[in-house]
Amino acid sequence: MLAAMVTTQTLAGNGTKAAARPEERVRVAICGTGFSGLGMAIRLRRMGIEDFVVLEPADDLGGTWRDNSYPGCACDVPSHLYSFSFAPNPNWSRTYSRQPEIWDYLRDVAERFGVTSHIRYRNGLREARWRPERRLWEIESEDGSRLCAEAVVDATGGLSKPQVPAIPGLERFEGRWFHSAEWDHGHDLTGRRVAVVGTGASAIQIVPAIQPQVGALTIYQRTPPWVVPRTDRDLTGVERGVYRLLPVAQLALRAAIYWGRESLAIGFRRADSWAARIPQAIARWHMRRQVGDPELRTKLTPGYRLGCKRLLPSNEYYPALAEPNVELVADAVTEIRPHSIVAADGSEREVDTIVFATGFDVVEPPAADRIRDAAGRSLSEVWDGSPQAYLGTTIAGFPNLFRFLGPNSALGHNSVVFMIESQVNYVADTLRAMDELGLASVEVRADAQASYNRWLERRLEPSVWNAGGCASWYLDRTGRNLAIWPGFTWPFRRRTRRFDPGAYTLTPRREVTDPLAHLEQARLAGRPEPLTHH
Ligand code: NAP
Repeated sequence: MLAAMVTTQTLAGNGTKAAARPEERVRVAICGTGFSGLGMAIRLRRMGIEDFVVLEPADDLGGTWRDNSYPGCACDVPSHLYSFSFAPNPNWSRTYSRQPEIWDYLRDVAERFGVTSHIRYRNGLREARWRPERRLWEIESEDGSRLCAEAVVDATGGLSKPQVPAIPGLERFEGRWFHSAEWDHGHDLTGRRVAVVGTGASAIQIVPAIQPQVGALTIYQRTPPWVVPRTDRDLTGVERGVYRLLPVAQLALRAAIYWGRESLAIGFRRADSWAARIPQAIARWHMRRQVGDPELRTKLTPGYRLGCKRLLPSNEYYPALAEPNVELVADAVTEIRPHSIVAADGSEREVDTIVFATGFDVVEPPAADRIRDAAGRSLSEVWDGSPQAYLGTTIAGFPNLFRFLGPNSALGHNSVVFMIESQVNYVADTLRAMDELGLASVEVRADAQASYNRWLERRLEPSVWNAGGCASWYLDRTGRNLAIWPGFTWPFRRRTRRFDPGAYTLTPRREVTDPLAHLEQARLAGRPEPLTHH
């Protein structure tokens, strides 16, 4: 690793000069080792940049696919698409791979592309602060070591802070409780009375997986989800052989899955669209076929448009609800007592274990409290409950910071790995442009970010994600959509292909005394974009 060691004096938080100490300097500090962090690290290596570190709080890599190990955890986008385009895996064992296989895939990719030596385990980001006088990020990691970096890549994800609702009485519960993303594998569920709170993407995978094992299973459903059929099956040896020998066959399948899922956006872009009725009719047919009891069907029928919340594929969820040891309570939880749960209808049920499949805090993800601007304000403070960014990646006031799957880059219909790879392109091209134009920093202009967000809001307003008649984690407390990219994903790929300097304040490196001359040189070297702001 080419991390340079320099001796510097830095300003302590109170403004006094701290003692001189050796400080490690790198070009890029990446936080997180999920699809985003690894994808970025691999691209840096491919660009010939070895001068980077990857900070990881856990003792293994994998991000979401390491942390979410609940029973039944699997991808709900087919694996031939939900994988890196540059690292196809002909050996997937199922169409929708399970968590252990996806986690193995990530570990294998990290090893094969030589990024593991850059990862610092058990050493996540504690704080990063932009120092304008140095035009660098000063970073403290969890083991107390300090480094500075030209750029910070926040690849810690939007769904990484488990959210357990503040239900009165939880602190007095005498059984065991945990969140779906923090599954307690040491806690044997055999024969126990288990409650699952929530009926989102995590819950509908957990329920059928634990139902045969537990004594009694109560599911607390506040809002029913739309569930569609899932074509999950083992892939045969012949299929795997074909993909190994004929990579183009797997590529063609990947493209077919991508465009098939992309077609859902036709209906989702407008809540009143006829096109959205097709998957909704399929979901109704699926329920009629799988749920015989009309009373249960009534409880399970959503009162909002399909797509408003994440579309859930499962062939096992509905049949599990019909098992004799399962009860669906179509009410929120209002109170927890030492040995029981009270629902909104006043009914009380005894339970030994509570699983909170209640989602994640997307408004204040962990890194948002740890990344600070020049004035010391955290991302959370600047966002104030309603995260905004430019192209889901850069944020006004935070130069040389790149967030993956940031505001309005999540999807309800297609693979987020596609979005991540688009963001990798954007960050890579920005770093290349910084070199070519001799720039010390790039900072998206507040007006460019604001006008981009106005455009997003206009696009999202009629969409099923805003106007579909539901409350979801896509919306903040004011009803503004902070999560979803509004429609087809290929325009996002197009917009993130090249760095767009017109949207940025560009600060030249000190040695670049005449940035315009430098720009002219860059132009002559074949880079056409104008350097309009500096
Ligand atoms: P989620 O979709 O946010 O669902 C949370 C569930 O908990 C909802 O049913 C919600 O009810 C319920 N809930 C929240 N607070 C509650 C409260 N106070 N009382 C009662 N119920 C409450 O969370 P998730 O299932 O973990 O999924 C989050 C996201 O992770 C997904 O949208 C998806 O993007 C991703 N994910 C993907 C996969 C996959 O690929 N296989 C699997 C899991 C998760 P309401 O609907 O009424 O709010």
